[in-house]
Amino acid sequence: MFKTRRSDHILEIAYSCVRWFFVPTATLLFLKYYHHTTGDLILFCALFTVSVLYMGFTEYVLHRTPITSMLYRYVTRLGVFMDYIAYILIISLTGGTHSPLYPIAYLIILHASLYWSFTGAMVATNMMIIGYLGVIFLVDGGFLDEELPRHFFNLAFLIMIGVIGGIIVARERKHFVEKGIFENLAKKDYLTGLYNHRSFQEQIRETITKTRHFTLIMGDIDYFKNINDRYGHQVGDAVLRAIGSLFDSLIPSSQGRAFRYGGEEFAIILFTDDRHMAAEWMDQFRDKLKALEFGSDEEKFHVTMSFGATSRMRDQRTAELVAAADALLYTAKEQGRDRVVWGQLATNPSQ
Ligand code: GH3
Ligand code: MG
Ligand code: MG
Repeated sequence: MFKTRRSDHILEIAYSCVRWFFVPTATLLFLKYYHHTTGDLILFCALFTVSVLYMGFTEYVLHRTPITSMLYRYVTRLGVFMDYIAYILIISLTGGTHSPLYPIAYLIILHASLYWSFTGAMVATNMMIIGYLGVIFLVDGGFLDEELPRHFFNLAFLIMIGVIGGIIVARERKHFVEKGIFENLAKKDYLTGLYNHRSFQEQIRETITKTRHFTLIMGDIDYFKNINDRYGHQVGDAVLRAIGSLFDSLIPSSQGRAFRYGGEEFAIILFTDDRHMAAEWMDQFRDKLKALEFGSDEEKFHVTMSFGATSRMRDQRTAELVAAADALLYTAKEQGRDRVVWGQLATNPSQ
């Protein structure tokens, strides 16, 4: 509910421009047509000063703070309430319900729906109706029979804008959430929860363009076929899931990403070519994997994995890198499994 999207930010900038348009036009309107008493003038000056200060502060927040910051979130949402109060005051000062600025109410309702969807639109509509009725009694001097059709349609349009605007925003939000779900389905592997093979291909291409140096690790579960044959495919699936969770919990997204390359094979991209750091991470993973117990109370078993790891030293392309890591993984299997074989380096691999 408190998340701001890029498109919301653009709308927020649009709202800010609308405010900068209305403040001078409302000032001209007030001074030319509705400047009657000193009390009105004092109230208008106070409103003008507070509005300009608030708008200046909002501009600062919109352009100088990240959209994820608490300040940004509170200021943009507070804007809806500030606009409401300013709106009621300004229409009171410019002809009550006859004010030419009356339709600003529609913009405020839509602004509320932007953050609080249909509920926001409904609450804002009700607040507008209350404000409108208040202005009829306090500024217009009460209901007049001949004004009833105008009031009726003014209020009816408020409700229509609230309902239709609320529905449109709620529908857009629902599509946005669904889009996120489908994107997730397209990128992630259902069983392990890790990113899938397609994401791996995309990520490695992106990493190659952005970061010249990184480490690619290919991993494969040892004797996994035996696990399936002996304990059943469901237990095999549980092993894959547990390994997926372990990768996920051990790699912060800023440092790398793990993928299910296919079957019981995994690929890990670490955004560093520092062999020491990568080896430390591998040791940590392998220790945690060894500590995991699978099977039933009667028959417990542990799982090991073999890895081939290579860092990108030259300008290798994706296929070359994967082939190199694969060949190292094959060597790890040949050397007896449960180990990491490192490429590109003369020193002995860590075991
Ligand atoms: P090695 O140590 O040489 O890697 O031996 P291995 O038995 O692990 O290798 P092999 O490639 O012969 O076996 C891989 C097995 O992984 C075969 C396949 O049934 C199993 N497998 C692949 N995907 C899944 C899956 O999603 N679930 C389960 N339960 N098994 C899978
Ligand atoms: Mg395999
Ligand atoms: Mg295997």
